[in-house]
Amino acid sequence: MAKVLFLDTTLRDGEQTPGVSLNAEDKLKIAKALDNLGIDIIEAGAACVSDGERESIKAIAKEGLKAEVSSFARILKNDVDQALACEVDSVFLVAPTSDLHIKWKLKSTQEEVLSKVTELTRYIKEHGAKVDLCCEDGSRTDHDFLVKVLKTAEQAGADRFTVADTVGVLTPEMTAKLFEKVTKHAKVPVGVHCHDDFGMGTANTLTAVKAGARCVDVAVNGLGERAGNTSLEEVAVALRLTTGHKFNLRIEGLTRLSKLVEKLTGIPVPPNKAIVGENAFTHEAGIHVDGILKKPSTYEPIKPEIVGGKRRFVLGKHVGFKAVKKLLEESGFKMGEEQAKQVFDQVKFIGDKGKRVTSVDLDTIAESVLGQKKEKPLHLIELTALAGNKVTPNAMVKLQKNGETIMASGVGDGPVDAAINAIKSAVKDVPFELTEYHVDAVSGGTDAVVRILVKLKSKGRIVTAEGAGTDIVLASVDAMLNGLNNIIMRS
Ligand code: MN
Repeated sequence: MAKVLFLDTTLRDGEQTPGVSLNAEDKLKIAKALDNLGIDIIEAGAACVSDGERESIKAIAKEGLKAEVSSFARILKNDVDQALACEVDSVFLVAPTSDLHIKWKLKSTQEEVLSKVTELTRYIKEHGAKVDLCCEDGSRTDHDFLVKVLKTAEQAGADRFTVADTVGVLTPEMTAKLFEKVTKHAKVPVGVHCHDDFGMGTANTLTAVKAGARCVDVAVNGLGERAGNTSLEEVAVALRLTTGHKFNLRIEGLTRLSKLVEKLTGIPVPPNKAIVGENAFTHEAGIHVDGILKKPSTYEPIKPEIVGGKRRFVLGKHVGFKAVKKLLEESGFKMGEEQAKQVFDQVKFIGDKGKRVTSVDLDTIAESVLGQKKEKPLHLIELTALAGNKVTPNAMVKLQKNGETIMASGVGDGPVDAAINAIKSAVKDVPFELTEYHVDAVSGGTDAVVRILVKLKSKGRIVTAEGAGTDIVLASVDAMLNGLNNIIMRS
């Protein structure tokens, strides 16, 4: 099986996701993470955009990564000069090729586009960089003209030739036809750049590979213009598990990479997102959990560990008895069938009311069934949080811990962050990490009840806990203390 190159465009097309702007430091972090996983080409940005963008592309190019570092450029001499000035290894030279783009956007002709392709490809090569000539709106371009652009680019010395489905209108059948034609005529590796407007980005990318494409343009978490680019993680796992094509990318770091990009871009990954979504390896339904406990492949098409993910069983109204028993065991509860059944009934009762059942809830139920209800070690006595436009958000907490009074303060990005930092400093002796924080407004309006869910990790164990109320700071502190009480009591 032929080898496929991965070109990651998270830092260019991905950054064009509405609402995303990454600073140089964040871009470098993502580039290093991509390089660590063995990505072949990093499209680091578009040098023509701004001074800041040029600085960050230059910083990535100078980092000494194993990956080829590239900048986007239009078929304009100035764009190309700006890209070259960033000392990139290659230029992703984008030439609009459809009649629609040539006539209405460029107000130009096919001949002019071809002559620009020749001129700028040669120019870039003379300056020692590689050229990936990309046909913008290639999917709506006459196939014969695409071949003409390909031949022109190859003659001028281009190293790769990419066809972009810029507006995501291809179907797998159309993709097969287009790429069979282009790859038949190509001497250089052909790349495919798809968008997910019809939800077919991954399917089209795999179809193009089957038709001979050897470079896939992808973005982490499927970020990108409109509905996004093809997802890196989806293509990588699908190639690994279904087609057998070879590639350099190491997929075991995909979950961590996804989380890093989610954090730095501020674009949350939907829970039902393939491969990297929170629910991708999560099971609630009783029948599925029962099957998985007997043999994981019954309901798990992808092993979570191959992408660095983790299988999770969650509690809710669909939960089955065996899952509850398994979770009780994992939490260290020793109880008989009858007692476990009582816990199960209570979990079902809460789940039926449409409520989330956290791990703290499960422990509380189990303890009450076993008659082990213990006094909680941590109690909140006082909380003050201050925020505004002329003050550094700060908070003070007074806690009682096993009868002893502790006071601590913290500053943060806002009153919630400050209050949580104050708690962290009050319980320094408890080893834990806050890995997730969710807010749900239960009713509308500024006096809405908010429900806070926190996920705390302590010595490999994950504890979920909730707090609710009309005061978001107080509800957050409650959620933290519920989780921390659980950690302290069970350690
Ligand atoms: Mn694009």
